[in-house]
Amino acid sequence: GVREGRIARVRYTTDGCWSSILSGSAAASLAEGMSVDEASNLSQDDVLEAVGGLSEESRHCALLAANTIKAAVADFRVQRAESCGECSREDCGGKTPLQGESEKDFADRQGIQRRLCRIKHKIVVLSGKGGVGKSTVAVNLAAALSLTDRRVGLLDVDIHGPSVPKMLHMEDVQLELEGDTILPMELGDLKVMSIGFLLRHADDAVIWRGPMKIGVIKQFLKDVAWGDLDVLVIDCPPGTGDEPLSIAQLIPDADGAIVVTTPQDVALADVRKSIDFCRRVNLPVLGVVENMSGFTCPKCGEHIAIFKQDGGERMAAEMGVPFLGRIPIDPAFVEACDEGRVRIHKAAGHPGIEALSKIAEAIAVALP
Ligand code: ADP
Repeated sequence: GVREGRIARVRYTTDGCWSSILSGSAAASLAEGMSVDEASNLSQDDVLEAVGGLSEESRHCALLAANTIKAAVADFRVQRAESCGECSREDCGGKTPLQGESEKDFADRQGIQRRLCRIKHKIVVLSGKGGVGKSTVAVNLAAALSLTDRRVGLLDVDIHGPSVPKMLHMEDVQLELEGDTILPMELGDLKVMSIGFLLRHADDAVIWRGPMKIGVIKQFLKDVAWGDLDVLVIDCPPGTGDEPLSIAQLIPDADGAIVVTTPQDVALADVRKSIDFCRRVNLPVLGVVENMSGFTCPKCGEHIAIFKQDGGERMAAEMGVPFLGRIPIDPAFVEACDEGRVRIHKAAGHPGIEALSKIAEAIAVALP
């Protein structure tokens, strides 16, 4: 035990010979009262001196005792680094309970903070409507960022339509647990976790109510062992319901949201709501992506604005948020999604995939 930086109590057990019992108890009493730094410098000679010397063949017991104390100190330092209570970040909101916060909620919040502290950037991908290509953007953005030598994670909390497992050909994946933590799946360098991995059947979540959804999102943020990441891309369900709200509240230091839309008026009306939502929950808008922005016929080269065009850019200007770019309709996406392949780095010549790569690059450059 350590109290106020000093070692308060040391217990040392051994099933070894009398000289190891002697060395162990001498090392333990030497360490008690020392600062953590002092204890990490305990040497074989210190223990030998404390026991009044040992025969040549028993001197290793003193070395073992000193090294055991050092190992315990190293463990303590790791635990301290991972514990909010001892963290030196002055601006951290995870140190003290909020007014009226229950002990359980405080512990949950600290648990989430501990995980997220190790992730430098968190980017939330939102859309006003389903089917506009939000998951396509999230998956390809995560893949493109991981190709820039960044450590990247992709978290899919789209409870009602988790497409990430399908898009990454991970439908049969089973969650792996290690003690209380959930291990993210690895796809090359990309770490992936999807609510879809929890659902045996795609329809399982249909009956989930708000508190259940919030509970599972909380658990994902608290228990998934991402380790140290440069970027976590979070694919949220469409709209402004419980899930995006939970994400915004549980990740108060998120870098911001990328809002995906298609260009026609019907989709734009909903995307305005998404931007409004971001403002209300203090989530910065990193920018708007206009997806399915026209189609160029590969045979005759004619450009057809199937869902109209440029609406996303106009709306972004009106609402005073950045416009990140437009992605044309590209059958390569449909093929890649259905086959569970991320095509972003392989599909030179595919206009949609090239446009998405450029947007991902711009986002990567904007990250400090
Ligand atoms: P959301 O997450 O908004 O519901 P998805 O990313 O799942 O949407 O995309 C829905 C479907 O549209 C998928 O089949 C996907 O392959 C396809 N899609 C997305 N963007 C494009 C695009 N630019 N061109 C062609 N198909 C696209």
